[in-house]
Amino acid sequence: MASVEFQKVTKSFGTFNAVQGIDLSIGDGEFVCLLGPSGCGKTTSLRMIAGLESPTSGKILIGGDDVTNLHPKDRQISMVFQDYALYPHMNLADNIAYPLKVRGEPVDKRHARAKEVADVLKIGDLMNRLPAQISGGQQQRTSLARALVYPSRVYLFDEPLSNLDAKLRLEARGFLNHLQRDMGMTAVYVTHDQAEAMALATRIAVMDKGKIVQYAPPIEIYRRPATTFVANFVGNPPMNLVPAEGMIENGALQLRAHGLIVRDLPMSNGIAKALEASKTVTLGVRPEHLAIGTISDTNTISGKLFANENMGPESLVTFERNDGGRVTARIFTDDEISVGENVTFSFQPQHAHLFDAGGARIPL
Ligand code: ATP
Repeated sequence: MASVEFQKVTKSFGTFNAVQGIDLSIGDGEFVCLLGPSGCGKTTSLRMIAGLESPTSGKILIGGDDVTNLHPKDRQISMVFQDYALYPHMNLADNIAYPLKVRGEPVDKRHARAKEVADVLKIGDLMNRLPAQISGGQQQRTSLARALVYPSRVYLFDEPLSNLDAKLRLEARGFLNHLQRDMGMTAVYVTHDQAEAMALATRIAVMDKGKIVQYAPPIEIYRRPATTFVANFVGNPPMNLVPAEGMIENGALQLRAHGLIVRDLPMSNGIAKALEASKTVTLGVRPEHLAIGTISDTNTISGKLFANENMGPESLVTFERNDGGRVTARIFTDDEISVGENVTFSFQPQHAHLFDAGGARIPL
């Protein structure tokens, strides 16, 4: 296994900068997810580690060695693609053993090794089938087996679960999680699915428009998102973001917006500085941190009930403030609330997030 490092890496296609000067250090044995919306540069970054794209400028290091100009086959990496890229005319045994074949391993040895890996992935009894004769989940495991059959320094994954249905996806995710803990592999995993990134990663690099906007362990990204973009992207449903006018009265921060009363947020130097630059700030509260009623009458958000979705163990209650802004709460009660009814939710001060006018987190 080996570390991976991006040093000021840029990739341009013509005049378009798909990746814009990123620095990223991935430790030996880490599982890092590149997370972000479509087109933010995740796949291009992954392909540059693999050597399938060359950086326009900057360097890529694997295990401390500069591999920027090294051919893909000399990088000792394995890649699992979104569409699995299995050879349709080869049975599973030959598909899985292919990386050993191109390295000149004799047929007995490579089939024995392929069977070993296939058994671990629970597809060992399908070795004579063609890819078209197995399910999507089994194809996904075949492509994983092919990546694992030959020891690599780094494993690269490009949305490997996106073609699976919801149930298989969960199962495969659990399996990958187990595999990572078992093998301690260095992995770089591209996804736009925040739940997948939260479940698998040791650290998540959140990308937006070719840049890394936050790089931290999943829990840190969830608890202290660096920007409104990250706050909105991580968490399902996403964090509620309410633009408000901030002022300091009697040494305490007060926020005002339609339907919002915030009277006791702890003051900090960061808030004072942000308010000097602009009175407009954004309050963030996660849906799971809103409680129905006024457990705290100093921090409340009110509006008219817009939708009440019962999800089984929980309900997603969306209400509309009177400027039309919507807020969602995740609540664990069977109380029936009717559409159109006035509702008030409250939150504890420690669950408030504040962002400045430019969307950057204000330290509280
Ligand atoms: P997705 O989740 O949709 O795969 P992504 O975050 O992986 O998105 P990339 O595939 O890295 O995004 O693409 C980043 C940007 O670069 C996109 O705007 C894409 O259109 C552009 N791009 C990628 N490859 C090329 C290419 N070969 N030529 C021109 N533009 C490209």
